Amino acid sequence: MKLAVFSTKKYDIAHLQPVFEDAGHKAVFLQTRLEDETVPLAEGYPVICIFVNDNLTAYGIEYLASSGLKLVLLRCAGYNNVDLVAAEKFGVQVARVPAYSPHAVAEFAIGLMLMLNRNLHKSFSRVRAGNFSLEGLTGFDMFKKRVGIIGTGKIGLLTGKICHGFGSEVVCYDPYQNPEAAKEHGMSYVSLEELYSTCDVISLHCPLLESTFHMINEDSLSRMKDGVMLINTSRGGLIDTVALIKALKNRKIGQVGMDVYENESGMYFEDASDDVMQDDTFSRLLTFHNVCITGHQAFLTKEALSNIAAETLTNLENYLNGVDSRNIVKKQD
Ligand code: NAD
Repeated sequence: MKLAVFSTKKYDIAHLQPVFEDAGHKAVFLQTRLEDETVPLAEGYPVICIFVNDNLTAYGIEYLASSGLKLVLLRCAGYNNVDLVAAEKFGVQVARVPAYSPHAVAEFAIGLMLMLNRNLHKSFSRVRAGNFSLEGLTGFDMFKKRVGIIGTGKIGLLTGKICHGFGSEVVCYDPYQNPEAAKEHGMSYVSLEELYSTCDVISLHCPLLESTFHMINEDSLSRMKDGVMLINTSRGGLIDTVALIKALKNRKIGQVGMDVYENESGMYFEDASDDVMQDDTFSRLLTFHNVCITGHQAFLTKEALSNIAAETLTNLENYLNGVDSRNIVKKQD
């Protein structure tokens, strides 16, 4: 099978090429991001493989379906970047990789938590500059802190479990509860209201849907504890960044760790160090001493890349063999 793979970096090609080649598929690797403007590059390909910041709109789906597109392979868990209504309308199947390494993302969320909690980002720079002062580096124990996990899927459960290991009191919220799994991972369900108003640390692990877009906004921020730490390794659109900046300025928020940003598309995954930053909201975020931003890196472990390649191939072969799979994505809300 011939497929066009978008937004590829060296590390993608290193993992995907041997897997596709060994199975007899011809993958063409493109560095370009898939957007309406670049859709013609995929003309004539029955299968395309895309990543988190590719954008497959209704226009793109209609355009490509008319030239034979049948399958979209998402090499990620999230699927907010594909117009699923259009995909269904034009008979294009969409398959994702729901769990390539939940450990990679959960461990990264904890990394952000500990970096902020103990000011490691500041001490790293200080020591390199020969400044061994500890002034301003006072942190807090995770032990006995109340941690709130929003979204108790694969990543949320593991993040909660690690926090439980610290001796934190872990509570969680999910509209679709799994009390047994939550208990096994050392946490218990509470209402979203209780989670917001009582937690010292809140970590987001739910998908970006119409219903979760900007769930962290002026109103929800105002209901949180003063000095709360907010961690987002899920999707940038969960947070209204302008409201977040306001809450940082008035010290409502104690610390923010974010691996994702609502306007990251077109910015993340590229070296723009020679360019002038055009996004003033992002620039403002970078000025806060208590905000740590990483560039959508949480997934990036050797184990995750191997699993993504293997599962993406399985999705392709399942499609070719007419096998129904839980990885096929359908419109939810
Ligand atoms: P998952 O599908 O296993 O779990 C998501 C959970 O969120 C589900 O239990 C679902 O019921 C719950 N949910 C749905 N709507 C909700 C709401 N309104 N409030 C609270 N919970 C809600 O997904 P996962 O594998 O745990 O991944 C979670 C998210 O992490 C993904 O959606 C993806 O956006 C993100 N992610 C980020 C990276 C990264 O590199 N930063 C990597 C992988 C995944």
